[in-house]
Amino acid sequence: MTNMEPETMAPGPVAGRALLERARRVIPGGVNSPVRAFKGVGGTPRFIRGAEGAFLEDVEGRRLLDYIGSWGVMVLGHGHPAVRQALADAVGRGTSYGAPTEGEIVLAEAIARLVPAVEVVRMVNSGTEATMSAIRLARAATGRSRVVKFRGGYHGHADPFLVEAGSGAATLGVPSSPGVPPGTAADSLVAEYNDLASVATLFDAHPGEIAAVIVEPVCGNMGCVPPVDGFLTGLQRLCRERGALLVFDEVMTGFRVSRGGAQERYGITPDLTTLGKVIGGGLPVGAYGGRADLMRMVAPEGPVYQAGTLSGNPLAVAAGLATLRVLEEDPAVYEHLEALGRLFDEGFGEMGRRLGIPMRWYRVGGMGSLFFTEAAVRDWPSVAASSRARFNFLFHGLLEDGIHLPPSPFEAWFWSYAHTPADVERTLRSAEAILTRKDFPDA
Ligand SMILES: *Cc1c(COP(=O)(O)O)cnc(C)c1O
Repeated sequence: MTNMEPETMAPGPVAGRALLERARRVIPGGVNSPVRAFKGVGGTPRFIRGAEGAFLEDVEGRRLLDYIGSWGVMVLGHGHPAVRQALADAVGRGTSYGAPTEGEIVLAEAIARLVPAVEVVRMVNSGTEATMSAIRLARAATGRSRVVKFRGGYHGHADPFLVEAGSGAATLGVPSSPGVPPGTAADSLVAEYNDLASVATLFDAHPGEIAAVIVEPVCGNMGCVPPVDGFLTGLQRLCRERGALLVFDEVMTGFRVSRGGAQERYGITPDLTTLGKVIGGGLPVGAYGGRADLMRMVAPEGPVYQAGTLSGNPLAVAAGLATLRVLEEDPAVYEHLEALGRLFDEGFGEMGRRLGIPMRWYRVGGMGSLFFTEAAVRDWPSVAASSRARFNFLFHGLLEDGIHLPPSPFEAWFWSYAHTPADVERTLRSAEAILTRKDFPDA
């Protein structure tokens, strides 16, 4: 696919390279989450020493326009004054108690008020914990074991989700990581995103066995791939007909594609919802919630065990609450995210035609992705058909120009309230200059 050796592409700056070498001795791959290592794009990751508004600052002191946004977390931008103040106040009162607080109630009330399908919610420490716990609850509520997920969908790193289709969408899951027991993987069935028939086939093949269908209502973890018309309503219908629960994994889309998440945007009421990222305001947080009758099955009210030493941590709750308050009270936030998104829509929409380069831009709310491909993108096979070499060329060109995309062709780009139209226009100009270079890859 590409004749560029990732290791030889775009050597990183000296200080960053030294840090990476040092990091590798004591941290697997030098990073605490794999995609940060630049394996997808080659080269050396920038080590970051600070962030403010729409910008990161790397250890060489370079300002980088940030489209990673901590993978969607920083919807207000870095260091928003309200979040900073809330954290400073919270720190003065102690950092963890292991006993309940009023702040947790206020945060739960805010989530229940803003996310349509959430009546009762439990805080956890990451998106992974949220999806893992939601599935346990769905299995308990239905008395069934199997779970349907979609190829290319990501729900954190718990065992049941680390599977992919073996041969076609209707096969049993096979582990996509060593260490996932075959029995666990066998309970995970993999369907094709945006393909209702592939889901119906699984229900037919496993009658009475499927506890839940878990889906990113806007797929964000194979790049941004929106649901086609009727897909989400069709999923809801199928789940109801077959007695399975519909779980919307809104860890990424929650408070990003609209204030009430994808469920508000598309008018669908899932049984359970998982959240994370934005609701922690930049601190480690997750949550799962939904229908009261289901959530009341969770311990100590019900028998489904789930716990956490740091769950509802006062710092995380303070940062999350400060973030949600701004999102709830400032009507301009989502208009701003949409307005910037439209600039991308228009910019990339005509750029491909003008330059004669097959490319497609997809965007929902404050997340979007550019795929170098001719055909419409709607599922994992069409995502996989896009040119990685072209994306990588764009990625490194932009990075040299001080613009930091997520380091993979299969991730969404995130912008924030702190980004400006001028930032987006600069990004579009820079991208166009890179795509017209003589050495832009042929395919
Ligand atoms: C990020 C993400 C997760 C995992 O959350 P972590 O906090 O990284 O564990 C789960 N689901 C989706 C859709 C995500 O985007």
